Amino acid sequence: MTIEHIPAGASWEKSGNASWGQCPKCKNWFHLGPEILKRPEVKLHCPHCAHEFHQNDAPRLIKAG
Ligand SMILES: [Zn+2]
Repeated sequence: MTIEHIPAGASWEKSGNASWGQCPKCKNWFHLGPEILKRPEVKLHCPHCAHEFHQNDAPRLIKAG
């Protein structure tokens, strides 16, 4: 798993405090709220393929800030 931090003002970073996770199944990215990232025991739900997985199982996470 790779965790990346977005530098402030990144051109594609739209909402100021957005974090993103990549689905291990379909490889699509989706938005993650900051609260969910503080709770690694909570499963993420991919909106693209409905796969559920823990954030530690995500291939990549991008945390804003
Ligand atoms: Zn998916």
